[in-house]
Amino acid sequence: SSSPGQPAPGAFADAIVDLFGELGLSLSDDLGSDLAVFSPIDGSALATLKMHRATDMDAMVANAEVAFVAWKQVPAPHRGELIRRYGQLVREHKEVLSRLLTIENGKILTEARGEVQEVIDICEYAVGLSRQLFGLTIASERAEHRLTEYWHPLGVLGLISAFNFPAAVWAWGTTVALVCGDSAIWKPSEKTPLTALAFAKLLQKVAADYEFAPDHLVQVAIGDAECGGIIADHPGISIVSATGSVRMGQDVGVRVQRRFGRPVLELGGNNAAIVAPSADIGLALRGTIFAATGTCGQRCTTLRRLIVHESIRADFVKRLIAAVGSLNIGSPLDDMTHVGPLIDKAAFDAMQRALDRARGEGGTVHGGERIEVAGSPEAYYVRPAIVEMPAQSEIVREETFAPILYVLSYADFAEAIALQNGVPQGLSSCIFTSDVREAETFQSAQGSDCGIVNVNIGTSGAEIGGAFGGEKMTGGGRVSGSDSWKNYMRRVTATVNYSTELPLAQGVKFDF
Ligand code: NAD
Repeated sequence: SSSPGQPAPGAFADAIVDLFGELGLSLSDDLGSDLAVFSPIDGSALATLKMHRATDMDAMVANAEVAFVAWKQVPAPHRGELIRRYGQLVREHKEVLSRLLTIENGKILTEARGEVQEVIDICEYAVGLSRQLFGLTIASERAEHRLTEYWHPLGVLGLISAFNFPAAVWAWGTTVALVCGDSAIWKPSEKTPLTALAFAKLLQKVAADYEFAPDHLVQVAIGDAECGGIIADHPGISIVSATGSVRMGQDVGVRVQRRFGRPVLELGGNNAAIVAPSADIGLALRGTIFAATGTCGQRCTTLRRLIVHESIRADFVKRLIAAVGSLNIGSPLDDMTHVGPLIDKAAFDAMQRALDRARGEGGTVHGGERIEVAGSPEAYYVRPAIVEMPAQSEIVREETFAPILYVLSYADFAEAIALQNGVPQGLSSCIFTSDVREAETFQSAQGSDCGIVNVNIGTSGAEIGGAFGGEKMTGGGRVSGSDSWKNYMRRVTATVNYSTELPLAQGVKFDF
C-alpha cells in the first residue's frame, strides 16, 4: 500500500528487494517517506527512503571524526587490505550490482558492467597506492641537514556525487581517501541513492569484519542539495569532493573555500572532437557515435561539439545522421539496445528547450524526438540529435545533459583549435587526424585547453590510471588517477639538523 507522498511501488520495486537480497543486504532500515526513487526505464517507483536531517549529519560527522583518529594510525598497507577485500566482494557481485545500476540509472547493461568494473579497477589501483604514498628528499642548502616532504592523512572526506556515474565517482574518491587514512561520508545523487546504498553497505560489511577498521569509517547521507550544502559548510569535513553541474560547483566551491576546507570539483564539460581531412573516417565515425550517444548523452565527457573540416563536412554529417538513425533505442536491460532512457522528464524538457534555442540560433536539427517504448509511457527515450549550426552560438557554449551533438565546420587548423577552446568548460577533447603535426599541436600548450586530450579516440571512456578532470568551469579538480591521492592527504615539510651548529637559512646571522 502507499500513503500520500509515497508513490505505489512499480514493476521494478520487487527486483530491487531481490537484488539487495542477493547481495546479502537489507534496505529495511533505509525505507521511509521522504525521498521517492524512480526507474528511468519505465518511470515507476522503486522505493521511498528516509532522508538525513541536519542533526543526523552532525552526528555522522562526529562519528567520522572519531573513526578518522583510529584509522589514520593503521599502517597504509593494512588500510589497503580493506580495499582489496572490498574489490573482491564487488567482483563477486558484479552482475547483480550492474543490474541494480541499470534499473536505477538507466544506462545500458554493458555500460553498467563497465562502471562496476571501474569500481573493481580503482580498488586494485588504491591497493597498490597503499604502498606508494611516497614523499620526497630535497637538497638542503645547509650542511648536515635533511630536508624532506611527506604526507599524512587529512581528515573526513565528504563526497557529493552526480546521478550519471552513481558508483564509480564515489569509488574514485573514497577508495583512495581510505588508503590515505581518511574516513568518508557519501552524499549520493538523490536520483540514484539505491545504487549508493548497495555499494556502501558492501564496504561497511567488509569493514565490520576487518579488525583494523573502526566503526563509522564509511557512511552514507541520503538527501538532496540541502544535504550537500551541509557537507559543504561543515567544519568537521576536511575535504569536499563534489561531482556535478557547474551551478552546484559554484555554490559548493565557494562555501568550502570560505571555511578553508579543501574542495575537489569535477563539474560539467562541453567536449569537442576535431575531425581533420586526413582522419580515418570510419574510425572517426565510430568514435563520434559512441562518445555522442553513449549513456544517452549523460556522461560528463559526452561529445557535444563536432568541429569537422569543411571539405569533408557534408559526407561526414550524412553518415553520422544515418548511423544515429540505425541505433536501437529502448530498455537498457535489452542486450540489443544502444541508447537507454534519459534520467527523467526534467532532462527531456531541458533537451527540447535546447533544441528550440538551437533552431532559433539558426540550427538545423536531425532527430531529438521522443521515442515511445511499449509499456513505458512515463519514461523519456529520445533519438539522439545531430544539430548543424552556422556558428558556435550561445546554446552551443552551454552543457545540455542530453544527447545533442552540435556540428560546426572549420577551414584552417588554428580556427578549429579556437572553436575547441571557445567555451567556458574545459573537461575533455579529441582530434581525429593522421597528421602528426596536428596531433602534436593539439596536445601542446598551443592546443586544447582541456584536462583530457585524446588523439584518434572519442572524448569519453577514460581509463582510471590517468588524472581525471578539467579546467575552467569544469572546476580544476582531479578526483583520482596519477598523483590525485595528494588531494586526500596533508603535506609536511620537515627539516632535521644533525650537526652541532645552527646555521640559518639564506645565510642570516643572529649571534648573541
Ligand atoms: P547536479 O549538480 O544536479 O547534482 C550533483 C550532486 O550535487 C547531487 O548529489 C546533488 O544533490 C548535489 N547538489 C546539487 N546542488 C547542490 C548545492 N547547491 N549544494 C550542495 N550539493 C548540491 O548534477 P547531476 O544532474 O546529478 O549530474 C550531471 C552533471 O554532473 C553534469 O553537469 C555533468 O557534466 C557533471 N559530471 C561531471 C563529472 C566530472 O568528473 N567532471 C562526472 C560526472 C558528472
